[in-house]
Amino acid sequence: MSECLFCKIGDGEIPATKVHDDGAIFVIRDLNPQAPIHLLIIPHLHVETLLDLTPHDYTLVGRIFAVAAGIAREEGFDADGYRVVANCNRNAGQTVFHIHFHLLAGREMGWPPG
Ligand code: AMP
Ligand code: ZN
Repeated sequence: MSECLFCKIGDGEIPATKVHDDGAIFVIRDLNPQAPIHLLIIPHLHVETLLDLTPHDYTLVGRIFAVAAGIAREEGFDADGYRVVANCNRNAGQTVFHIHFHLLAGREMGWPPG
């Protein structure tokens, strides 16, 4: 059995507020939101870091951005804008080693990011 938090959430073994699940990609609300809207877009496929993606996975990564755009339109923050962020390894602050893409919206974002 997997010990991975996001595999367990994806399988429904650990509860979370899923706002989307198409069998390949699911979306949950972040437990510790950094913006009024803070979602995590997560592939069911267990890949530890962005460094571990292979060309076979590139279509899946493209679909992440399609899911983000779909949610932005549905929830009505497409015109105001949003940010998609993925952290890789220690310096970027990755804490869960199953790739995921933060979808942040609902406020103006600073640049450069901290
Ligand atoms: P990262 O630091 O980029 O690896 O992002 C991991 C994110 O997962 C953080 O923003 C956490 O707040 C979030 N997180 C951790 N555990 C949970 C959980 N059980 N449900 C929802 N979000 C979580
Ligand atoms: Zn996993």
